[in-house]
Amino acid sequence: MSATNNLRFRQSVGVIPKANSVEFFRANIRESLVLKIDSNKILELLQSFNGSNSLQDICNKMNFIDLDQLQTLSNFLKKEFILIEQDLPYPLSLTKDNYRLINILEDYFHSTSEVINAIENLKKSKVMIIGVGAVGSYIATYLAKVQVGKFIFVDSDVVDISNLHRQHYFEKNIGEKKADVLAEHLKEINNNIEIKTIHCLLNDDFFKLNSLDDDINLIINCADQPSVDYTSKLIAKYAMENNIPHIVGGGYNLHLTLIGQTIIPNLTACFKCFEKALYEKNLIDLKGVKKLHREGRKLGSYPPLSGLASSLAALDAFKVLIKKYEYLQQSNRRIEFSIEKNNFTIREIEKDPNCEWCGES
Ligand SMILES: [Zn+2]
Repeated sequence: MSATNNLRFRQSVGVIPKANSVEFFRANIRESLVLKIDSNKILELLQSFNGSNSLQDICNKMNFIDLDQLQTLSNFLKKEFILIEQDLPYPLSLTKDNYRLINILEDYFHSTSEVINAIENLKKSKVMIIGVGAVGSYIATYLAKVQVGKFIFVDSDVVDISNLHRQHYFEKNIGEKKADVLAEHLKEINNNIEIKTIHCLLNDDFFKLNSLDDDINLIINCADQPSVDYTSKLIAKYAMENNIPHIVGGGYNLHLTLIGQTIIPNLTACFKCFEKALYEKNLIDLKGVKKLHREGRKLGSYPPLSGLASSLAALDAFKVLIKKYEYLQQSNRRIEFSIEKNNFTIREIEKDPNCEWCGES
């Protein structure tokens, strides 16, 4: 086992001493690790991991542990995200502007060079958002704030006064193209962001008529015209064929807050897997249910609920872009938030080995 020097005790980790053990709490991820160990000694030891001491230095200072034991313990604490390897110093420009983002990213990576690399990758990432209304406009804003550097916005709509109560637009923008207005706003968050806008409705010919860049890292569907199912299927088909991770942004119409699914091609359940599983489950759920019918029925739009869908989609988008798929909260799951019960209902949907799109055959 090789020794890792330059280990540092992560700032985000809380330490809770107990009678015969110590609990380590990774605050950003909210995961805990309990070790049966003397709390006074481990606290003293952890203070020595300051990013510049070698294991031998620490061993010389602490007479209760030998080098082999320290090596085993430090490797374990590194593996468990308690200690991080400080193999590359953070540039001052990065810590000045992004120390909170760095703190979050440290909980996902084992070394500072990996954190720096993740931020560089976020800056290089290209995200295509289709539909920049109530959900899409806020997803874009959140992603711009976590350093995502390139966007493609697809939307044919202009800002209407009825949009203002739930979308990221203002009265002065009425009549302007949503994609262009959003591009301007994001430039105010980060002037280095590169944005391409496509003023076009998503239809059967969209992917034939528009030659898209081949370096898109993520597609997020927030288009609901003529329906979320129609647009999601078109996008999912294109994304599966081109091996691009994609997210259904979710929304609030009819089903109240649907938290859309995150799909990593051939790794997680795909759109077809969901379609089949939900059709079968819906048949069971809807057995004997009487359908109401009212002509021209309109439902309201409640901004905090579309905000919830966009926040959670942005959270998964962030994890997709830093390639931490094991932390995705919306893959292989159909999630709905109930405003009545104030809780999330989660249906686990497995990747189907016989799926038409992603199955083994
Ligand atoms: Zn599938």
